Amino acid sequence: MFVRFATCERTITEDKIMAVPKRKVTPSRRNKRRSHHALKAASYQECPNCGELKRPHHVCAACGHYDGREVVEVAEAL
Ligand SMILES: [Zn+2]
Repeated sequence: MFVRFATCERTITEDKIMAVPKRKVTPSRRNKRRSHHALKAASYQECPNCGELKRPHHVCAACGHYDGREVVEVAEAL
């Protein structure tokens, strides 16, 4: 391929042009970076007090218990 410059009526071959990366980040590098971006489903366990599903290390939203005792008062459902 030949490139013609407007200023000088001279053609040079492509290998004389300075090499410029097509892309800064290759698809491989980009995809490797995103390999850790997937979301995981939240885990749930049965509450030992009421049996509702609750998140581990969180107060039970249904009965307000944590570690075998009530730590939060739960409002009555209307
Ligand atoms: Zn509970």
